Amino acid sequence: MSNPMDERRRGLEEEYFHRKNKEAIEKLREKMKVSEEAKAAGTSSMKCPRCDGTLTESKFEEVMIDTCDKCGGVWLDSGELQQLTRKDQGGWLSRYWGASD
Ligand SMILES: [Zn+2]
Repeated sequence: MSNPMDERRRGLEEEYFHRKNKEAIEKLREKMKVSEEAKAAGTSSMKCPRCDGTLTESKFEEVMIDTCDKCGGVWLDSGELQQLTRKDQGGWLSRYWGASD
């Protein structure tokens, strides 16, 4: 025979975790919504590491770059600079970075 008090406690625990789960999922959904809206508006929700400006994603030579709307800094994810210079062999970018004279 099962103890009705145990049953009740188990029920409450389940309800508690169910509610916590739901909250976590809703928070996650809210976050995703924000970043999706930012994407749709053509902006990333990332903050500039140098100032408090907002980084805006733009496409350059098929590579996504982040440009700060405040200080004008350009930020590249790892590998993106290599992608850019590879795509731009002999172009202005590799001349810019490779030029010594
Ligand atoms: Zn900045």
